[in-house]
Amino acid sequence: MTEKTIGIIGGGQLGLMIAQQAHGLGVRSVALDPAPDAPAFRETDDRIVAAFDDAAALERLCRRCDAVTYEFENVPGDILVPLCERYNIPQGFRPLYDSQDRLREKVNAREHGLKTPAFAPVHDEASLREAVRRIGLPAVLKTRTLGYDGHGQMVLRSERDVRKALPMLSVPCILEQFVRFDFEASVITVSDGERAVCFPVGRNIHRDGILDLCVVPADMSDGLHRRMADESRRFMRECGYRGILAIEYFVKDDEVYFNEMAPRPHNSGHYTIEGCSTNQFRELVRFLAGMPLEEPRLTAPTVMKNILGQDLAAAETVAGEAHEGVYVHIYGKTESRPKRKMGHITMVGTDLSRYEKEWAGRFVR
Ligand code: AMP
Repeated sequence: MTEKTIGIIGGGQLGLMIAQQAHGLGVRSVALDPAPDAPAFRETDDRIVAAFDDAAALERLCRRCDAVTYEFENVPGDILVPLCERYNIPQGFRPLYDSQDRLREKVNAREHGLKTPAFAPVHDEASLREAVRRIGLPAVLKTRTLGYDGHGQMVLRSERDVRKALPMLSVPCILEQFVRFDFEASVITVSDGERAVCFPVGRNIHRDGILDLCVVPADMSDGLHRRMADESRRFMRECGYRGILAIEYFVKDDEVYFNEMAPRPHNSGHYTIEGCSTNQFRELVRFLAGMPLEEPRLTAPTVMKNILGQDLAAAETVAGEAHEGVYVHIYGKTESRPKRKMGHITMVGTDLSRYEKEWAGRFVR
């Protein structure tokens, strides 16, 4: 069998972990990224250092690879669409298009049968006031594009907040009902168009809008777990998406609300590398390389702790110690900053109370 080569648009930590799993499956990889020291380049067989809007470089990547994927959401359509017509980019542009604008994303989710918080597009004071009247307070105002990790959003609790939010309306926004959820959870699905496999649902705990912990299994009934997995698979099928899709949900009692989605491996799925019988990166590579997908199974309760810049030194100390079932990943980014994702630690055989007792004190609170 000739060796397959996959291409990755983006060379961050997700690209790095895709390339690591590709190697384990005997698949070669090439990444494209503007930064010569991008983390993925440590692991890929080849690299293209070029801007994401360098059409000739992207074309070079596609020509060199049997299949191409992307590891971030904001790949522009005017670049990707012409490439999708000529090369094998099996996830296509559609799931990116559907997720690049929060309004389009929620309309699409609702049209395909997922429940969302109430929402309305807003673009000026009058439309904001009308949306507040209809949805009520508290509510969350978000920019429609380019928001991430809590950037570009504001919780409105009072008339004063509404006035304070007016400058945000220099760009199109969406106002959403504030959901008093019990917890947040994400479902990662990989589909080859025929078969879809779903990873065990994790509970996501954020701090300052950034994922801090992912705790698996999420504390919920088997019925709810099954329903979330079934709904995610059905949603993917009905949207005609293939490849990988992560959906973030809010869980409130027995209700599940769609929050957002990403057609790429997801931070909340990093625990799958050691916590499951197969992982999100490996199944994505299997899909890209045309191999049959494998159904994942949780091997033990697992906690994933994100390592931001402020916790890097503590993580490096943990890496130098011997702890059974504890796996430290440092992404090798050359510049460390507070709030920048520098690595993660997966603790297999640990639940939230053990994490709180044995580990939480070692990281910045
Ligand atoms: P997002 O960028 O949409 O994932 O939002 C970042 C975080 O803000 C989420 O993980 C939630 O913790 C919180 N959040 C976002 N939207 C809502 C909402 N409609 N109701 C309550 N909390 C929200």
